[in-house]
Parts: sequence; structure tokens; C-alpha cells
Amino acid sequence: MTPNSRTTAFASFAVVRGLMARIFLATLMAWIGGLGLALGQAPYPNQTITLIVPFPEGGPTDTLGRLLATHWGAKLGQTIRIQNIAGAGGTLGTLRASQAQANGYTLLLNHIGQATTPALYRRLRHNTLADFDPIGLVGEVPMTLVGNPDFAPKSMTELIAYLNTPGNLARYAHGGIGSASHLCGILLQEALGLELPTQAYKGTAPALQSLMQGQTDLLCDQTTNTSVAIAQGKIKAYAVTTRTQVDTLPQLPTLHQSGLNGFEMSVWHGVYSPRGLKPEVLEMLAATLKDTLQQPAFLEELKALGVSPTEPERANPEALRTHLELELQRWAAIIHKNRHYAD
Ligand code: ASP
Repeated sequence: MTPNSRTTAFASFAVVRGLMARIFLATLMAWIGGLGLALGQAPYPNQTITLIVPFPEGGPTDTLGRLLATHWGAKLGQTIRIQNIAGAGGTLGTLRASQAQANGYTLLLNHIGQATTPALYRRLRHNTLADFDPIGLVGEVPMTLVGNPDFAPKSMTELIAYLNTPGNLARYAHGGIGSASHLCGILLQEALGLELPTQAYKGTAPALQSLMQGQTDLLCDQTTNTSVAIAQGKIKAYAVTTRTQVDTLPQLPTLHQSGLNGFEMSVWHGVYSPRGLKPEVLEMLAATLKDTLQQPAFLEELKALGVSPTEPERANPEALRTHLELELQRWAAIIHKNRHYAD
């Protein structure tokens, strides 16, 4: 080999080595890039999901939220943690949910208040229809009219007579303007044709405490909050608000049977995401919610608290949107008629 050909062979070797190094580097970069992409696209849900409950811990919305979080979380293969953001009849937590990122990691559980607050609040800072993507209905809960343990009337008949006697005091507790307990109070006062002094709390967990401690006299609240206290004799129970009697509280008449003709109220609950959820995430949430509503253990727990779970075929975004739109109209009419507004 001449010195010249040796130089040429060395040069070609250097070119090949350089080329191989570049290929190796490119492969490595592609692999790292691919890994990053794979990590970035880890399937939803790959982190804890927060479910905002806009009422305090220990109340009816919270109780339902915690049961739902356990069973729905198991279906999703991810932890769902409850965040209680209470106050202003649930509107503080609802506003916070409307401002969160629409990535499936912050959701809202709210009840009938989602449909009533737009008419009740003159300055609501969120828009119920525009700011949320409905995911699905969860269930419907009957309410009970209950009294403090030392309150004089012992039955619904005695209560009506007591309330109609001038000079008798009955302080009505509720969970804030727009809460279900507040709305039940509006309907009750309308049906009885009288006005009661009211006391607002951040939710019905503290309202029930006030009743048990004798600071207030009457409360209308969901069976998810009152069933245990009724069974333990810690409060007086007068009637249920549904049109038919409640299986778990067979001793209680309905308000309708007790002379308040046509009285009917129960509290429906739905789950929402801030507006803008990717369709595939929305689909996954709706499908797993529907599955959760068919889990025997979850259904047993709901039944014990008097909750009627949503039929699986209605546990979907369209059914919740339709129901919400109807309820917005229904409650706007009731609220405007009674001129109950808040700021
Ligand atoms: N859901 C209750 C109500 O609307 C409030 C609560 O959950 O504390 O009265």
C-alpha cells in the first residue's frame, strides 16, 4: 500500500466512523425523544383526580362525593380525592371548578344548586352552561323535614298547628342561599303561607349541628345527612319531601300526605368538568361513571342512605345537559315568583 492509498483508506475509515457516530447519536436522540413522548402521552388518568365538593366535610354532598370517589376511582384505576370548597350556597367551589384546567384532573360534584344559583344570585361569577362540560347524573336524594330534639311539635300535624299559631318561634336553618335546604325552605314557606326567620350556614353539616344543639329549630335536608341522626334519636323527624314515602324511613309521612298538596322535592346530583375536555377523556369519564353506577357495593351503600342512583342509561353527558336545562327553567320560575335573590 502506497502512503497515498493509506491516507485515502484512513480518510474513508474516519468518514465511516463519523457517519456511524452520527447515526448512533440520531438513534439515541430519537429513542430519548420517543421515550419523552411516551411519558408525555401516558394514558389518562395518570395522576390523582380532584373532585371539588362545594359544601363542607361531613354534609350530604360530601358523603355522596366520598362514596362516589371510592368506587369511581377504582374503575378509573386512579385516586379521586375530595376537595371541600364551601360557602355562598356552593357557588365558591363551583366558581373554583370553572376556573380549573379542563384536563380531567379537576372535576365538580354539584347538586340542584347548579340549576338554581343563576336565578338566585344577581352577581354569579361563573356561567353554568358555558363554563362546564357535563359528564353525568349520579343520583337523586329525598329530603326530610327535621327538628331540634327539644322542639315542641312531635308530629307533622302538630308542627303545622304550631307554625300557624301566632307568636310561636321556629328558626329555620339552611346551607346557604342556593343550597337544597334553602330551596326546600322557600317551597315550605310558600306551601304553608308564612315566613320563618332563617339562619344560613356554609352547608348542612354545620346546620344539622346547630339543630342538635338547639340553636335552630327546623331544617329540611337530604337523607344522606339526616338518616343516622334520625335513627339515633338525636333529632325529631316530621316528614319526607318526595311524593311517595321513603323505604328507609317508613315511619315518616310525605309532606303531600300531611296537607301540603303537591309538595315534591328531591335533590339530584351531577358531575362536571371545566369546559373544554378532550372528547376521549370525556368519553372515558362518562363510561366509567356509568359502570360505577352498576357496582353492587356502591348501590348498596347508596340504598342504605335512601339515595336513588341514576339509571345507567341516563348517566351520560347528554342526559345531564338536558336535565340541567330543564331545571334551570323550572327553578328560575319558582325563584322569580318568590323574589328570593342574593348578591
Ligand atoms: N347539600 C346541602 C344543601 O344543599 C349542603 C351540603 O351538602 O352541606 O343544603
